Amino acid sequence: MQTEDLITQHFRLAPSQAKALEKLRLETVRDLLYYFPARYGQVLPEKKIAELLVGDNVTIYAQVVRAKVSKAWKKKIPMGEVTLEDQTGRIKAIWFHQPYLAKKVAPAHFARLQGKVAERKGELYLANPEIEAVSGLGTSETLFADENNAEINYLLPVYPETRGISSLWLHHAVKKILKNNLQESLTDYLPTEIIKKYNLPKLATALVWIHSPRTESDSLAARKRFAFEEIFFIQLTRLRAKLNYQEQQAFVIKPEQKGLDEFISRFPFPLTSAQDRAIQQITTDFTKSAPMTRLLEGDVGSGKTAVATVTALAVVQAGGEVAYMAPTEILAKQHFESFISYFRHLPRVQIGLITGAGCYKFPSKINLNSYTNISRPQLLKWVANGEIPILIGTHALIQKAVKFKNLAYVIIDEQHRFGVMQRAKLVRKDENKAPHLLSMTATPIPRTLALTIYGDLDLTLLDELPAGRKQVKTEIVSEVNRNKAYAHIKQELESGRQAFVICPRIDEPDPTKALAMQTKSAKAEARRLQDKIFPDFTIGLVHSKLKPKDKEEVMSDFASGKIDILVSTSVVEVGVNVPNATIIIIEGAERFGLAQLHQLRGRVLRSSHQAHCYLFTSKASGQENARLKALEKAKNGFELAELDLKLRGSGSLSSGKQWGLSDLGMEAIKNLKMVEAARLEAQNLLKTDPDLKNSKLIKEKLAEQKAEIHFE
Ligand code: ADP
Ligand code: MG
Repeated sequence: MQTEDLITQHFRLAPSQAKALEKLRLETVRDLLYYFPARYGQVLPEKKIAELLVGDNVTIYAQVVRAKVSKAWKKKIPMGEVTLEDQTGRIKAIWFHQPYLAKKVAPAHFARLQGKVAERKGELYLANPEIEAVSGLGTSETLFADENNAEINYLLPVYPETRGISSLWLHHAVKKILKNNLQESLTDYLPTEIIKKYNLPKLATALVWIHSPRTESDSLAARKRFAFEEIFFIQLTRLRAKLNYQEQQAFVIKPEQKGLDEFISRFPFPLTSAQDRAIQQITTDFTKSAPMTRLLEGDVGSGKTAVATVTALAVVQAGGEVAYMAPTEILAKQHFESFISYFRHLPRVQIGLITGAGCYKFPSKINLNSYTNISRPQLLKWVANGEIPILIGTHALIQKAVKFKNLAYVIIDEQHRFGVMQRAKLVRKDENKAPHLLSMTATPIPRTLALTIYGDLDLTLLDELPAGRKQVKTEIVSEVNRNKAYAHIKQELESGRQAFVICPRIDEPDPTKALAMQTKSAKAEARRLQDKIFPDFTIGLVHSKLKPKDKEEVMSDFASGKIDILVSTSVVEVGVNVPNATIIIIEGAERFGLAQLHQLRGRVLRSSHQAHCYLFTSKASGQENARLKALEKAKNGFELAELDLKLRGSGSLSSGKQWGLSDLGMEAIKNLKMVEAARLEAQNLLKTDPDLKNSKLIKEKLAEQKAEIHFE
């Protein structure tokens, strides 16, 4: 057996199992070794059937003789019953209420059961045991021989399953691989010095410990190692990207402070001290010859645009150009308009807008107070010769045809939607001059996560909302209070306000789930609200499967007030500015992360009217309620993001995927010390060996990783 061998070369698979492995993307023996358990269960001591006593908590391995499903006790309770046999005797396993478990393993197949031995009318049986098929692993002889000498009370790994592959199958398959010592043949990419320094297990040991730990501390040590490794290599990649970028020459800009102060003094508000600090940091970066790569992270409403305009002015004053990139046309247009409001008194600073829908320029020749539609070639010409120093737009901004004279500063809104590649495109190859980069995001993420996934960016936090800003009144509404909440919402609508309704799903019920587990779909909910709850109001529906054109139409009808209630899924545009929308209803709130809920409610923060957020929950358990309660209290997105990370069980950390992290990686994110250590080591390594000349293995690993990254 070799690590690169296909799984099928060594394991006989039923078609359903093959399919399941494909779905899990497990192809080679090596893949199996790197498919880690999600958690561990205690293994109950194993006994033969003849040895069982009433009250035992045991594991038995046996062959299924027959199975049947019936009703027990005057035909009220559905019941499943399986008769099992090993070399020593026979016993029944009985399930009440879950009769289908009796069908989980077909007759003649082998099963492993764990549960309690009970007695009825003098006969022993296993009451509601866990049952797993153990087929495909050979004859009963080898199966039992293997298990007989297994140590009692070791930790049983529980793997993320999928239909067709049981955790137990994976457990046995990996055990077989480990028995062949294949873990020893894998390259350990983590430097030995680091392994020693942090007292981590080496790769081969860690693989054994993560798959079949004898103690909990073994499994923890192994998990820690893999988590560290993941974070370390991400840090290395990002830090290298940063070093590469900063090797380029930037436009050195000495800000003209007087002009900036004058510009700021016209604001109808004083800057918050966080805004002040951010402007200082950015303009200081401008004076350096290496290009800035900075992330500005701040809640919705924290005033990122003001920071962007002041710093943009600093660049324009110095004769450079600014490109401002937004993720959607709607947002680009909104930024264009807000830039105009900030620069209105400086009509000589022309501002352009370029999107797929058309090109505009401010000011218009005829009316210095407004903007005008211009042709694309005209706009491109003026941008190329530097007459339009500020250009706002969507991805259209980074197309080849768009040439700047002196692009010195690039601002990217909602950074996570732009990939590394797109950023790289902004570098002017001809002069090898790179613009200063400012990424802005309103997605509050924990510090450890930011340090990791944005390791190539310096971080500036706008952790302060302008004074006097109203908070969104947030209320958790259980099912019994739903109508009361609707009555209140109706009043608000009648006085002219508008509402968002967010649903967890777009479409019709999920057939694989019981009705009680269903969450509301946007489509069905829009219909229900129109028919039953708000028949007198206009309801619109928007979701990700709509064509962009239809989506924009609905959004603009909502913005103009033609639509009173907008039903959507959570993926629909963040940051859309509809000041008259003061209500947001979130259905199935328990299914969202806190940070996401916080961002959703930010949509109704734009008004001078009191805003309300209703969190409808159908099944708020104590723990879920505690999580949502944090939203009623917490004011700040950063606090919430940290809380969210803490309160999420490791099972629900699937959100890591959105950041390109594994579940293990997300576990590491909970650990500030580990993230800082991984970062430190990555920094140290690049300091002593920036080109990785003496770190061949690491270079190899990074190259492999690069191949796996999919750019947007
Ligand atoms: P963000 O992009 O961070 O969500 P914006 O830049 O759109 O926030 O600002 C939100 C609103 O707050 C705008 O109407 C803006 O004029 C206003 N604003 C920005 N800074 C301040 C401040 N220091 N004091 C009061 N209002 C401010
Ligand atoms: Mg904004």
